[in-house]
Amino acid sequence: MSTERPVDVRLRKMAARLKLSYTRDHLHELLESVITAKFTPREALEYVFSQEIEQREANRIKQALMAAHFPYERSLSGFDMTAQPSLDPGVIRELSRLEWIEAGENVAIFGPPGVGKTHLAIAFGRLAIEKGYPVRFYSAAALIALLEKAHKEGNLEAKLREINKPKLLIIDELGYLPFGPQAAHLLFHLVCRRYEKKSILITGNRPPSEWGLIFGDTAAAAAVLDRLLHHCTVMTILGDSYRIRHCRKQEVMSRTATVTEPEEQPTVGIA
Ligand code: ADP
Ligand code: MG
Repeated sequence: MSTERPVDVRLRKMAARLKLSYTRDHLHELLESVITAKFTPREALEYVFSQEIEQREANRIKQALMAAHFPYERSLSGFDMTAQPSLDPGVIRELSRLEWIEAGENVAIFGPPGVGKTHLAIAFGRLAIEKGYPVRFYSAAALIALLEKAHKEGNLEAKLREINKPKLLIIDELGYLPFGPQAAHLLFHLVCRRYEKKSILITGNRPPSEWGLIFGDTAAAAAVLDRLLHHCTVMTILGDSYRIRHCRKQEVMSRTATVTEPEEQPTVGIA
């Protein structure tokens, strides 16, 4: 770029000093757009600032998504509500306003495998990140293993503090594996610390009535549930696995296609 004017070099340097990285990296495009659109000075400033803010917001979301450790990407718009008649769309709409996170309340999603529990958990997590709330996703098994390890190594306090930082903690798939009684006590510590301050979104394949079995300790399970469910929206998804239903639908479609083929081409004569 030997043709770059000295003033552009100075502008880039100033943008870097002011940490306006979009302006620093896209100075020429910005100037071109301003000239082409014949912006007024005010419009030009507004345009540059808005581009800078947009880029910063995109970077913030990207970093927060990485920090959340979602196992995969899902969104609420990608969730087919008609596939789950047991879910109340009004409840989903209300939850998507995220007032429950502001209030430090919880959400629990129960249901059999494949009905979209993790999908919804990630979708709400993503919305929370977009609104600026820090989020961390753990599978229940990984979270409990982490707490047990910290307990064994004598740094439970520090670990609890670290895990408690995000405004929304997602604990996915509680109940798929049974836990020892110590797990319920460790989870109790966590839930107590967040109680009425920071939200937990939990998903599980077993209803609360069976948590005694998951933890092998009815009293400890009841203590966890008492705090968890006190200010909590509980959703129970009934019905078939979305995946299996999807596979079945495709199977039926391909079978229909095979059956209709001979009718469309009678001369082929498929038996
Ligand atoms: P669960 O956590 O209840 O076992 P998942 O959320 O992992 O189920 O869902 C299994 C797969 O099916 C995922 O890929 C998910 O995105 C998809 N899925 C489930 N329910 C729906 C739905 N109602 N609309 C769109 N995709 C869905
Ligand atoms: Mg799941």
